[in-house]
Amino acid sequence: MIIALLGATGSIGRQALDVVRTTLPHAKIEILTGHRNTKLLVELAAEFSPEYIWVPDATAAGELRHCNAKVLTGESELLSYIKSCNANVVVNAMVGGAGLRPTLAAIEAGKDIALANKESLVTAGQLIMPLAKKMGVRITPIDSEHSAIWQCLQGNDIAAVEKIILTASGGPFRTWEKEKIAAATAEDALRHPNWNMGPKITIDSATFMNKGLELIEAMWLFDQPLSNIEIVVHPQSLIHSMVQYIDGSIIAQIGTPDMRMPILYALSAPDRVKTNFPRLDLLTAGSGNMTFEAPCEIRFPCLALAKHAAIVGGTLPAVMNAVNEWAVGQFLNKKINFYDISELIIQAFGAYHVKPLTCAADIAEAEAWAADYIKSKG
Ligand code: NAD
Ligand code: MG
Repeated sequence: MIIALLGATGSIGRQALDVVRTTLPHAKIEILTGHRNTKLLVELAAEFSPEYIWVPDATAAGELRHCNAKVLTGESELLSYIKSCNANVVVNAMVGGAGLRPTLAAIEAGKDIALANKESLVTAGQLIMPLAKKMGVRITPIDSEHSAIWQCLQGNDIAAVEKIILTASGGPFRTWEKEKIAAATAEDALRHPNWNMGPKITIDSATFMNKGLELIEAMWLFDQPLSNIEIVVHPQSLIHSMVQYIDGSIIAQIGTPDMRMPILYALSAPDRVKTNFPRLDLLTAGSGNMTFEAPCEIRFPCLALAKHAAIVGGTLPAVMNAVNEWAVGQFLNKKINFYDISELIIQAFGAYHVKPLTCAADIAEAEAWAADYIKSKG
């Protein structure tokens, strides 16, 4: 297996490399990409000896010049690499809208994709899924919920699915009153109870936008209408999601909150590979409890906003995603309050005229509109 690892320096990227290190000794890494953390990229390049390393900007690329790998920079060089690479699987662990064009390039090049970058499917699922089918490209989910759903679907007829039950941890503010959430700081929001992830997805988990993005991701990956997907808060994060069939039977996938398992399965499926990852002890896990509750769209309005974007479709999810990404950055930089994130998205929805989504240029246009909107707010 030859892997192109995009977003190698991030939370998923580093865990993907740990999967290779501990479990896939014959896998070869052809490219590692990063963004600002060039120090870590240099270290990773020394360990995994990729043929190429890539960062978006030239200044960061200069810091990589002593690496024993060909240094690429700028989006066009990454896309050209993807088009002509020897890798047979692209692991897309980049964060945010920047991950979309690499996803599309990989599909056009006929490369299988292990996909962590959920923003690709949120903004362009309508383009990605038919294109992947046409090109014979396999898209395997890394997101733990989607990996769980995919595993629960194995050996069953998709037509026999009654509903998908997407579980949510509830995030750090699950039990907080609205007034307290309104005053929450970035530090509060970064304290996720169960998962250790990158900053953007951790804030998305606190606002519930992450679950909204995952809802749209699941609709595209498993070809399900919104009405067939139920979100259930399960604070122990033991069940990673479930599928209910027309006979009433529910199949669940259970495991420790360890992203290395879905990463490995995305690379090895349908094969199961032996690991030394910690095993789940059902008697002590979650203090012996598994509980379930409904999500609250009053305290977490981003969930309702994502549902609205899913129903309206077209270019609206791309606008929502771009505004959310910017607003999360503003919140992390202490420029805005927690509920300003949803407020900015509501205002954008009010100002934007949705267009049908027919090609990648429609998304670029929607993102350009969002950039102008952001400028007017920034
Ligand atoms: P992260 O912030 O830890 O890492 C992001 C990676 O993308 C880094 O390697 C960074 O260098 C790179 N990057 C950032 N901005 C970039 C840009 N503009 N151009 C090119 N590269 C850029 O994020 P993460 O938590 O690893 O999440 C990555 C993706 O996986 C996200 O889409 C997230 O929603 C998804 N995901 C993450 C987890 C998790 O446990 N961390 C779980 C499920 C899904
Ligand atoms: Mg997830």
